[in-house]
Amino acid sequence: MGRYTGPVCRLCRREGMKLYLKGERCLGPKCPIVKRQPNRNYPPGQHGQKRTRRPSEYALQLREKQRLKRLYGILERQFRRHFEEAERRPGLTGENLLQILERRLDNVVYRLGFADSRRQARQLVTHGHFLVNGRKTDIPSYLVRPGDIIAVRPQSREREYFKVVQETAQSKPVPAWLTRDLETMSGRVVSLPAADQIDIPAINTQLVVEYYSRR
Ligand code: SF4
Repeated sequence: MGRYTGPVCRLCRREGMKLYLKGERCLGPKCPIVKRQPNRNYPPGQHGQKRTRRPSEYALQLREKQRLKRLYGILERQFRRHFEEAERRPGLTGENLLQILERRLDNVVYRLGFADSRRQARQLVTHGHFLVNGRKTDIPSYLVRPGDIIAVRPQSREREYFKVVQETAQSKPVPAWLTRDLETMSGRVVSLPAADQIDIPAINTQLVVEYYSRR
């Protein structure tokens, strides 16, 4: 199971948009996308400042795919697997893909406000702090279904981190397809996430579909 271990703000600079990979810091003035003067907001690396040509069709498709993949913190092989699953399902592939990504357990933990970022949520899941329907589940790519109950393990609830979460998570809104109970530190999946309930930066999923259709 791989994960990106390099500097994450670099990914936002590469994509030219906030991907909210660092939790609290992303909302404050220390975010490099906000902090940098407009004329210093160029992509990272040795060639970042080069004058850019008009991007090709392929470059546009690639960027949208990378944005979506990096937003959810997934590497290529798994992202492609999610895409293939989205393709197999009836309906629009782009919408199916978003729904699959949104249903990942690490994303659900983040959406429930139990972690500040998907990256942190992923770590909490792999460290075995969550139960799904009463069973310990440490697989971040697990896809939740309507009716599933996601709860912090009773032993983990005693940890200082989760005590702080219990006191502070109230201020974090929960999407309409989930409900949260901070008393029991759990959440329930009410329904599958609809396209208009998925709150992410503007990403054109049609370009992602076109990217993978080039094969
Ligand atoms: Fe870094 Fe977050 Fe800003 Fe992205 S949004 S550049 S991860 S602080």
